[in-house]
Amino acid sequence: MITPRRTRLLRAVDLRAFQRAIAEVASYNDPWTAQDCVVMVPTHVATEQLKRTLEYLSFIPDNPKQHATDTGSQLIAWPHFVTRRAWYTLMHGRLKNPLRLLTDVEREVLLQSASEDTIRSGVEPPFEVRPGLLPEILTFYDILRRQHKTVNAFERVVTEQLERDVALDRGARRLLEQTRFLVSVFRHFEQKIEESDGLDEHALRALLLTNPCLQPVRHVVVTVPDQAASENGLWPADFDLLTRLPGLERVDVIATEQMLQSGLLERIRERLPGIEEEQCSRLTDPTPVRLMMVDGKRCRVVRDREEELIAVAKDVKWARQDGPESGDGVDIADDSTAVVFQRPLPYLYLAKQAFGACGVPFETFDALPLAAEPYAAALDLVFACTASKFARADLVALLRSPHFKFLVDESAVTYEEVSALDRHLAQFPYDDVPIELKRLLREPPAEPSPDHDLTQRAARAALKAVEELTHLASGGRTSVLLTSVLQFLTNHATVYDGTDSVDRRLLQVRATIHGVLHDLGSAHVSHHDPESDLGEVWANIRVWIERRAVQLESDQGGVQLLDAQAACYGCFSSVTIVGLIEKDWPQQRSRSIFYPSLMLEQLFQSSPVSEKPPESSQVARNRAERARFRDLLGLSNDQLRLSIFTLDHLDQDALVNPSTFIENLETLPGTEVSPVDEEARHPVRIKIDEALMLGTVDPSVVQEEVAEWLSLRLASNDLSESKRSFSHEDQSEGITFSPTRVERYLACPFKYFAGEELGLEEEREEFSRVSPLERGTWLHEILEEFYKDWRGAINDENIDLALDRCAGVMEKVLTTHKTAQSLPQAERTLERSLFLGSIAKRGLIDRVLRFDAEQGLAVVDRLLEHKLKGKFKFKSSSGTRSVSLRGVVDRIDLLPDHTFRVVDYKLGQAPNPKLAVQLPIYAVCSEQDLADRPDGPWKVKDAYYLAFKKERLEAPMVKKGELEQALDDGQQRFLEAVDGIFQQEFPVRPAEPFNCKYCGYSTVCRKEYVEDS
Ligand code: SF4
Repeated sequence: MITPRRTRLLRAVDLRAFQRAIAEVASYNDPWTAQDCVVMVPTHVATEQLKRTLEYLSFIPDNPKQHATDTGSQLIAWPHFVTRRAWYTLMHGRLKNPLRLLTDVEREVLLQSASEDTIRSGVEPPFEVRPGLLPEILTFYDILRRQHKTVNAFERVVTEQLERDVALDRGARRLLEQTRFLVSVFRHFEQKIEESDGLDEHALRALLLTNPCLQPVRHVVVTVPDQAASENGLWPADFDLLTRLPGLERVDVIATEQMLQSGLLERIRERLPGIEEEQCSRLTDPTPVRLMMVDGKRCRVVRDREEELIAVAKDVKWARQDGPESGDGVDIADDSTAVVFQRPLPYLYLAKQAFGACGVPFETFDALPLAAEPYAAALDLVFACTASKFARADLVALLRSPHFKFLVDESAVTYEEVSALDRHLAQFPYDDVPIELKRLLREPPAEPSPDHDLTQRAARAALKAVEELTHLASGGRTSVLLTSVLQFLTNHATVYDGTDSVDRRLLQVRATIHGVLHDLGSAHVSHHDPESDLGEVWANIRVWIERRAVQLESDQGGVQLLDAQAACYGCFSSVTIVGLIEKDWPQQRSRSIFYPSLMLEQLFQSSPVSEKPPESSQVARNRAERARFRDLLGLSNDQLRLSIFTLDHLDQDALVNPSTFIENLETLPGTEVSPVDEEARHPVRIKIDEALMLGTVDPSVVQEEVAEWLSLRLASNDLSESKRSFSHEDQSEGITFSPTRVERYLACPFKYFAGEELGLEEEREEFSRVSPLERGTWLHEILEEFYKDWRGAINDENIDLALDRCAGVMEKVLTTHKTAQSLPQAERTLERSLFLGSIAKRGLIDRVLRFDAEQGLAVVDRLLEHKLKGKFKFKSSSGTRSVSLRGVVDRIDLLPDHTFRVVDYKLGQAPNPKLAVQLPIYAVCSEQDLADRPDGPWKVKDAYYLAFKKERLEAPMVKKGELEQALDDGQQRFLEAVDGIFQQEFPVRPAEPFNCKYCGYSTVCRKEYVEDS
């Protein structure tokens, strides 16, 4: 017998009346009775907001509950606040000895088994059943059942529709094949659920209708709409349960008028026939919401999402300037301000940056995707290692990962040890890494390198990891593989002390991921445990990680960040709705990947004989979202702001259009428009960096590393952007400069600062066996050795002899040079042809010698790799100065007329002569240096690069104009750069922004920030 029940629809005129209605029907004076009531909310975030709102409403003088009861008791007990899913779990817990509830992982494993059985029975799918497809099939099955459709009904309706077109339409044939496959999978799946030791949601629903609960739920308060209006709403099967659940005596559905008028009212009347309708009480004299206008516009327009949040921070600071004080400052950790978005991402990621930079606390109860956490990426390294058969880059990345530790003799290998191993392995790029590791440990080199011990320890750790992972990669039962992966992760997990908040979060993420692996392993043991390989297991794990989220830690209070659904349950004095772009408001409903929407709408049509044609699901959703938006406009007790951005960074900086929802805002009832003139407002320094740069510096606003940095910064009198106040040990004239480094300063002062002052290593591209630096060293050595013995000029007569001799020198260098010794034969041949040339291309040596022969200059002597060291005099517009300098000139050719020319080899391009100082400085210094020779003085005649990337090879210092002028310009540039370095001016100022593409410091220099300012 069905329990008689009272079913009411409480119609609320706005969100404030909606919340008061919840407070009124869901607050009890008796805690025991409250235990039999559930309030259905859309999400966990909505629950948190609703609890706060109800507490607030309980203690204000016109508490609706106090009006509703005459007992005089002040005790208010709250019922259970549950999402739809939690409602089922709660009712399952109240049944007498029910079978356990199957987890999502178990259901998916059962579905995998059903799918394999179907294929074995000869029903082939028209697609490949990959791990990512199984959740989609399961979701489709759940939708069918929640729409109150059986598998038989699905088969009948869809097959009937498709069979009509099958003769003419290939697409229909494919859909029919798909339907046969899905129907068969669903039947196998249902049978497996029945045979298992558990229940799923659908079996539980059937059980709840026939088996009364030990302690029934007597009162259900529905505050969510239906599925057509919200993805967290109730399904037809849920409404059916509400009408027939034994023991249920009262159902209260609460909705706003806006939402009801969007189409929900008809659907509720249809789902809950005979429902009584009542108007909720409302505040007699509600405060009108003030829609704050900026620059005469109802909606603030900024560049991107980050600026939207910074603008909110600015509003908060303005609002709090005259606000309540807490302790020793203005209290800005107030939770009466809300930022409402349609989708949490990327706002939640940006909030940390934007609000953090402004010193405005914020709070959110949303979760972030697990897949975006660093530990999930670290897990990727484990599988990448086995997939690439332990490629050097993958293995080194795994050993370096801070999430893992690899022990050797009970101590973890260090970053330096792994780097030493990396350098060692880089010498054998084509060799199998595990074999090389074994060789390294078995045959120590005759002449061990200085970091041999470091390499050995890292090699031992690497080989152990390789052996463990190789064992895994051999395949086996799925559950065994999952357990072994988990074992590997647990054995090598980094130990954190758990005191730091970052570490707590890491531990939480790690535990969640380990939990996924554990649950998958257990589900396979219990239901279906096929043979698989590591690649399949990883694909499966990844699918699960991508669907999980991890809760953000949030216990500090502050501006509330929440989505539109949850916002409906909050109570705020200031609300800013952000991201009002066409793409998000309304949001597109996700579509089925199996059938066209029209076909599904016909399948799920609730009443076959309907007076009106059914609305498409997207139309119903759009209308509901518009209704929710209009409700949100009246949510605040005081101020409302609307915000939109123009550039969408998620869509490659595409320009975006405003949402159609913000049209016709002037017709809003109960809203006052309050213009805000930002220009006239008190200036507020929004970001901490602005406060530090522009205002009186208060060191107490920053802590830890930032505080340390600030004390360094304050030690310098000049805080302008271009000054870096890192201590320079030798700030006097005692600094020795090198033209190469000064050239680096001229290319970009920050690049110099990062490399020379901070000592940061430049991030370099991976080279194959031979780096340009090594090749350049060999070239210098070959030419030095050759010219040492070749005294005279090179001309057409002796060029062949010169080439032969040079080839001999090259062979010697390639066999004796340490870095060339390890070259395999094939590589050595390649390098040889690079230096000597081939039929297709002239070699480097060939080009240098032929160039010298073409010049036909008689040479008295050649000074090779000539060292310059000491104080040299340089001319500038303000007079002559001495600077200490150290450098090596590649070659100085002394000519018969007592002049000389400077030659510099460049394997790449010659530098821009307007920025280069090497040639003029070498020329000037060489002249001063050679003046002391017994055969001196010598006068500079010329200077040029031999640049091998240049077709003509020669790149002279003086292209047009005077030599003197070129030398003067070079000295002027050099001295200006020297002054800049003395004064520690290191701004981000690339001389040729194009080169930033190849700069190894681009990730640390904040070039974009400077460009934007
Ligand atoms: S990326 Fe460009 S601006 Fe940044 S340090 Fe390098 S050269 Fe300078």
